[in-house]
Amino acid sequence: MFSVNAIAATSATEPLARTTIERREVGPRDVLIEIRYAGICHSDIHTVRGEWGEVAYPLTVGHEIVGEVTEVGAEVTKHAVGDRVGVGCMVNSCRECDNCRAGQEQYCLDGATGTYAAVDRDGTITQGGYSTHVVVDQDFVLRVPESIPYEAAAPLLCAGITTYSPLAHWNAGPGKKVAVVGMGGLGHMAVKIAVAMGADVTVLSQTLGKKDDGLAFGASDYYATGDPATFEALRNSFDLIINTVSVPIDMAAYLGLLRLDGTLVSVGAPPEPLAVPVFSLFNNRRSFAGSSIGGIGETQEMLDFCAERGIVPQVELIGADEVNDAYERVLKSDVRYRFVIDVATLRR
Ligand SMILES: [Zn+2]
Ligand SMILES: [Zn+2]
Repeated sequence: MFSVNAIAATSATEPLARTTIERREVGPRDVLIEIRYAGICHSDIHTVRGEWGEVAYPLTVGHEIVGEVTEVGAEVTKHAVGDRVGVGCMVNSCRECDNCRAGQEQYCLDGATGTYAAVDRDGTITQGGYSTHVVVDQDFVLRVPESIPYEAAAPLLCAGITTYSPLAHWNAGPGKKVAVVGMGGLGHMAVKIAVAMGADVTVLSQTLGKKDDGLAFGASDYYATGDPATFEALRNSFDLIINTVSVPIDMAAYLGLLRLDGTLVSVGAPPEPLAVPVFSLFNNRRSFAGSSIGGIGETQEMLDFCAERGIVPQVELIGADEVNDAYERVLKSDVRYRFVIDVATLRR
């Protein structure tokens, strides 16, 4: 084991603070990554505050990690010292179940191992990316193409793949009308990726406050969900709706926006169950679905896609001592569009 600088939560209510955490020695199939940037995801906040269940403290979160490989184990073949790499929301899985074999490790039947607050296969509790270094099995490390700026690459590892996977699965592309609900970290990625896939994209946001950005990201329309006329105007319009918000929504109203065989996919997770009126599903043979990140192969495909198409998340860079303030701003939706920690500020 060796100690590295990190930012950790010591309880559900205390602010995060600088500390050191232990990383395992680099095993034969492990990669040591010197972390350069770490994104702040809303899930980090839910987790450190115990809102998604009990966690062990101290806890370091962060699952949008990019950095440089500085050491590899003897059996590592996929990565080399000096490579630009990334780590997303999972760092291990059973690798043997049907879902793992299908390249859908995020749906591992034995439970994929989360990048933080999870019990790893060796019994240790995983610690995330608000830290100077991380040791990860080579199979869960992604290649970050050179053309994606380092600091902007971080949000692709969660926000990027979380939106890319359902857009790809439900065939967003030319001739398809896609609505994105919410213009936060996930939503702004969903817009950029769906536009790059060739779909006609509409943003549904609480207000028109980010309309100029949405149109600049390539959306063709932008509507305020606070205005009831929106739901009348857009009835039976969309093939696919990606819902990125993590508060309950009026399911009847949103399902009513789907045209024949349309699907509403939730990627944001409100703590309470959603009430789904079944008659809203009968009309137009609609579907309601969920989606969780993406497999390792698909995450690499997403990174390569973003590099080819020049898709870059819009980030606000912060220092290690600004994380608590950033959390408050995330909770107020006051971020354009993802906070990213410059981990250089954690080295001193
Ligand atoms: Zn996340
Ligand atoms: Zn598995």
